Amino acid sequence: MKVRELRCDGCSGPGAVWEHPCADFEWDAAQSPDKRRASWGSWIFCEACHRRVEAGRVFGLADRSARALARKHGLGRGYVHGLREQVLAAQAPFWQHQRGMPRRLTDDRRRRLEMLPEEFTDTTELG
Ligand SMILES: [Zn+2]
Repeated sequence: MKVRELRCDGCSGPGAVWEHPCADFEWDAAQSPDKRRASWGSWIFCEACHRRVEAGRVFGLADRSARALARKHGLGRGYVHGLREQVLAAQAPFWQHQRGMPRRLTDDRRRRLEMLPEEFTDTTELG
């Protein structure tokens, strides 16, 4: 069984340690991150992104995500604003559909998530 690395659904970085329950939802095609059209279940976050979600910092989370995306793709600061708009649109359904209390990922839960097919997580990769 192929085991994949869990990446934060906010900044795509390693070290996701929190799981935020979320209802399944579909994206508008125009706002779909990557080629994915739907999000199933929880989103997982690193400590820094989790803190932003907990504080309801919609723009703070999008800003962190946009900066991470720009770094990843070698884009300068000038691209961050545009990326942030895309990220805001892509993350909007999460804010609307999240439900219940976040919980720390246990080792057991982490192993289960690592076994899921790729399309079930890593929802913030923008195409
Ligand atoms: Zn993160």
